[in-house]
Amino acid sequence: MQKNRRKRPKRTIGLNLILWLCFLLFAIILIVIFTVVQNYQINEHYRSREKENLCEAGGVLKQELTKRDPAEASAILLSAANRYSVSAYLFSLNGEFIFPVKPGGNNDEYRQTFEFVKGKFDGLDSDKKEKAQLVFSFETYAGYATIVNLGNKNCYLYLSSSFDHLIEMTNDTLWMSLVTALLATVLAFVVSGFVSMAITKPVTDVTERAKELARGNYEAGFTRNYFFTELNQLSDALNYASSEISKTDKMQKELIANVSHDFKTPLTMIKAYAAMIAEISGNDPVKRVKHTQIIIDETDRLTALVEDVLDLSKLQSGIETIERTVFNLSEDLYGVVNRFGFLTSRGYKIETDIDDDLYTYASRERTGQVFYNLIGNAINYTGEDMSVVIRLKKKESGVRFEVIDTGRGIPPEQVDTIWQRYYRSGETHKRPIKGSGLGLSIVESVLKKHGIPFGVQSEVGKGSCFWVDFPDPPEDEKSTEANGD
Ligand code: ADP
Repeated sequence: MQKNRRKRPKRTIGLNLILWLCFLLFAIILIVIFTVVQNYQINEHYRSREKENLCEAGGVLKQELTKRDPAEASAILLSAANRYSVSAYLFSLNGEFIFPVKPGGNNDEYRQTFEFVKGKFDGLDSDKKEKAQLVFSFETYAGYATIVNLGNKNCYLYLSSSFDHLIEMTNDTLWMSLVTALLATVLAFVVSGFVSMAITKPVTDVTERAKELARGNYEAGFTRNYFFTELNQLSDALNYASSEISKTDKMQKELIANVSHDFKTPLTMIKAYAAMIAEISGNDPVKRVKHTQIIIDETDRLTALVEDVLDLSKLQSGIETIERTVFNLSEDLYGVVNRFGFLTSRGYKIETDIDDDLYTYASRERTGQVFYNLIGNAINYTGEDMSVVIRLKKKESGVRFEVIDTGRGIPPEQVDTIWQRYYRSGETHKRPIKGSGLGLSIVESVLKKHGIPFGVQSEVGKGSCFWVDFPDPPEDEKSTEANGD
């Protein structure tokens, strides 16, 4: 059998370290790019400048040597070599050294230079040779070669310029880059420290407050004077969540208190009357019937309460799916109104204005529950005249149901709250229909699940009108109804 492997907690990295690494990486990338670009540019610039310098020196020398006496050649070459900081060589076409006359150092090197120059010119067409100015670029130096006419004799002039300065400069830049990288590392360390402190401190602060909230302290408000907009937004969201959780928590507590209270009252009555029957009225048939009826009534009340609680939890948990059918709304409404018929003997006037044969497409059972709860409330809360008006009228689109009472009305600030679970306005009210305090919540849940618009218009002291706008049945569903549903 395979063992249940425990999931290892994911390793987390501190914000400080991440920030430091980011800063460091950023600084290093920047320095590397900068060094590479800088080196490349300096190199290119220096090399092309040296080539231009060689060409210029070569051009000047070519003119001067042609014009002047061959005896002055050495002096001219020496002065030009100094002026342009280049090394100059003059060879006869068959390889004799004209300048320097006695080459110092390694003789082979001069010979190799001659061979190199000669090789380059040998490769050219003879008519191009005299005018040609050849420029060569090597890793450590650049060279220039041309043919000059000295005392009516053609010679090879070769100039070279070393890149020693450039190499030195490149090394210096490399060192500077290394030092800058080191400084950047230190700076990244310091800056990331400050930045992470600026971020982590408020984050820790918010976390602490969130923990307080989790412990049930809804008063731990989230301040919104942080430097970062995102943290202020988070605070706003948490403040909102906190107020919503606190409301739900309050409602939950109220619900439990109210439900247990409403369970307790009938249970106490049942126990008291059962004891009374056992001890006193058992042998008195009239009293016994009266007491037994009270027990039955209270049991009904308990059952209704339990049913309402179950209904609401089913509706709100989303277990129940709405089974829509097309049905005759007018007939069903008459059916519900008739259930309240017994109240006419107690002086209630239930006036109806119901158009016949109005259809809708909804859950039939749940719609009946909506009618029952709204009419029951109207009867419970209507005024001294004890009258209630029930209307069902065809609208341009859909069917409007209205139940109007002449009671105390609902203050505007309570219009939204009456739909909440177990909301009851402070007043105690004598009601002919027993309410669980969940009636309007069930109405709201049912209609919202259907997507049916509903609401209440109320004026304090004058009464209320609860309304629901039922939809017309869709065309395809209408035909199934016509075929005998
Ligand atoms: P219950 O009527 O059992 O208290 P409901 O959920 O049906 O529970 O109603 C919630 C609250 O809304 C009532 O306690 C009452 O304060 C208010 N309410 C409902 N219907 C009316 C009405 N027609 N007129 C005035 N107030 C009403």
